[in-house]
Amino acid sequence: MAYSPKSPKNIHFVTLGCPKNRVDSELMLGRLAESGMAFTMEPTDADIIVVNTCGFIEDAKRESVEVILEMAQHRTNGRAQQLVVAGCLVQRYAKELEEEIPEVDTFLGTGAYETINDVLSGIREPGQGISTPTFLHSSTAPRINTFLPHSTYVKVAEGCDQKCSFCIIPTLRGLQRSRPITDIVREAEALAARGVVEFNLVAQDLTGYGYDQNPRTNLANLLEALAAIDSLRWVRVHYLYPRPFSKALLRVLSEANNIVPYIDMPLQHIADPVLKRMNRGRPRRFVEKLLKDIRSTMPNNLTLRTSFIVGFPGETDQDFQELCTFVQEQQFDRVGIFKFSREENTPSYDLPDQVPEEVAEERHNILANLLRESSRDKQAEFLGRRLEVLVDGVSSETELLLEGRHSGQAPEVDGTIYLNDGQELASAGDIVEVEITETHDYDLVGCIHRVIHPAPSRPAHARMDAPNAPALPTNQPRLRIID
Ligand code: SF4
Repeated sequence: MAYSPKSPKNIHFVTLGCPKNRVDSELMLGRLAESGMAFTMEPTDADIIVVNTCGFIEDAKRESVEVILEMAQHRTNGRAQQLVVAGCLVQRYAKELEEEIPEVDTFLGTGAYETINDVLSGIREPGQGISTPTFLHSSTAPRINTFLPHSTYVKVAEGCDQKCSFCIIPTLRGLQRSRPITDIVREAEALAARGVVEFNLVAQDLTGYGYDQNPRTNLANLLEALAAIDSLRWVRVHYLYPRPFSKALLRVLSEANNIVPYIDMPLQHIADPVLKRMNRGRPRRFVEKLLKDIRSTMPNNLTLRTSFIVGFPGETDQDFQELCTFVQEQQFDRVGIFKFSREENTPSYDLPDQVPEEVAEERHNILANLLRESSRDKQAEFLGRRLEVLVDGVSSETELLLEGRHSGQAPEVDGTIYLNDGQELASAGDIVEVEITETHDYDLVGCIHRVIHPAPSRPAHARMDAPNAPALPTNQPRLRIID
């Protein structure tokens, strides 16, 4: 089926998975909007349906297949004339999906999503979309921000050169390709000019940013460049793999006014035998020293987020106990816990001593209970404090409240602050001073005292990020996110 701006089609778009996949979806949406597509929230009204999938672990794969099958119903029995499936699941299982779900017209791998218009217009044959991913977007690509108008994800690199034994990502996303600093700066400035306040930097391995560039650069250089842009209010770093942090990196993290004191560093485990089998490359003593260096350099208001995998092959009771003790000693501010997912075509699939599901489940529950207690204690420390809070808008719980986040609360993964007093003073995108009046296990409640930084004025096409962005489509694309 071909289309042109003279015959606009309705498109329904579903995104699954992580923020990095969301960025890919936003780039696809930018291309589609550029070609004159209209968007619909209802699959029943769609001429074309696109599903951008996740294929990282078992739960994500299952969810992706369920959504594809749901959308295939509209292709078979409804109005839709074309069903496009993109993303990590396609990169991983293209052949199987082609055989099992013939309702899908086009599969696009992770390195081919930018060709979506060519495929839809028939310039490119379906089936050419699965190749080794080498594509890297730039700031000139049209993009629609599907997230909050004042907050966005900035993908600074794609792919990963690490070889963690449980992870399929390097196969799905290819080797690391970092974007040039000048291009990231250009994108950040354009976003700020369109009213974005919070910039969430993402990559598979943010600490490794720039090592693949010629000449080499690094994360410290990138952050220094971003710190020099006055119009950026909050810059947040995600997915900092525990590699050595240079003095320059620690310095910019601790000194730059617009880089929030928030470190998101997935540690995965702490017992050396498990770290070794995970092929994480560095032992417990390295991780402890790194945490100590970070804490001593960034003593003020640091929020430390991490994640761990329980039930990894060969994890003994002793290893698990070591992890529990470590977590209690370190008093992380936020911890994500995941049960090991045995993924084919990863080295950990064939490791001996796979941990039974019920043991992994029990360990997950034990650690979750420990963390709930420590989260409650940490939250209690906020009572009575005054914090800078970014207002996200009207609360999803009730229209009577606003909600926002302090700098230690990343969007989508951390808690929120419900603002139940002073709402008349503020609106979305403002940074306000809030006094915390109640604390809960994960969320806080507070009252607004004053506006510190009003939201930047936002032009009419503010949801379009790229400098050459086309006009805003009529409806925001539908998003479904797996956390
Ligand atoms: S750092 Fe490890 S876990 Fe993260 S994407 Fe790379 S290989 Fe996967």
